[in-house]
Amino acid sequence: MIFYVNGEYVPREKAAISPEDRGFLFGDAIYEVARFFHGRAFHMDEHVARMQEGLGALRIEADASFFPAVARGLLSRNGLDDADAIVYAQVSRGAAPRTHAFPPVGTRPTVFAFTRASDPPPPPAGGRAILVPDERWGRCDIKTVMLLPNVLAAQRARESGALDAILVRDGIAIEGTRSNLFAVIDGVIRTAPNGPRILPGVTRGATIAAARSLGLAVEERAFPVEQMLAASEVFFASTTLWTYSVVEVDGRMIGDGRPGPVAARLKESLLQQFRGS
Ligand code: PLP
Repeated sequence: MIFYVNGEYVPREKAAISPEDRGFLFGDAIYEVARFFHGRAFHMDEHVARMQEGLGALRIEADASFFPAVARGLLSRNGLDDADAIVYAQVSRGAAPRTHAFPPVGTRPTVFAFTRASDPPPPPAGGRAILVPDERWGRCDIKTVMLLPNVLAAQRARESGALDAILVRDGIAIEGTRSNLFAVIDGVIRTAPNGPRILPGVTRGATIAAARSLGLAVEERAFPVEQMLAASEVFFASTTLWTYSVVEVDGRMIGDGRPGPVAARLKESLLQQFRGS
């Protein structure tokens, strides 16, 4: 595999980042994951804009506009031009002797990216989820690599044989560890509003737009766990999953225990956009 590090395309074995990199020492970095089909990205402008906002929020002086060209460079160098593939890109505040406050002015941000074929989709029968307290910081809207609460919750899910965890704060079902969360409650598609508690997912936005264009009722209003458990459908939305039905939460069946029609219609609509048909 060919990776991208600071302006160069290098074989994976040669790709090197300083041990003093602040991404490594402090999680002081922003990342993005975009999805490509036949070299065409799904909503690339939104990924670039979100990365730029994240860099601005962390006061990392870097320009996210490198992403589309680097993504194309990686796809072609790795023979993934015609594939369904993801491209990961990360920008850290750079490498400098360890001290919490910012490094000297002029320290160059570290830019790193790689690509790989998209994972095969999870089983069509839908997935199980567990509820885990949301222990993340107060700026979940910034896509930083500082993901330990997500990592620990995802591991708990794996250890209990579930697809993912649903993060819960003050009785509200917030989102997955790596996806936004939707529920169909009284015939209305609900998802938490954008704000500091959730990541403004690119797929979340595309899913809401798809629902509206299909004439389905959508409300950006968070839902308590109890309402979610009584919903006719619950589903995750993310770049890697599209929409994916959750059919059981903490051992309680959602709806009739099978993936529902709303998630399926929305996924179909997203896939049509993605594949350009
Ligand atoms: N929420 C969290 C916490 C995530 O980590 C992700 C993706 O990594 C998402 C939501 C979904 O975002 P997107 O649709 O942009 O992939």
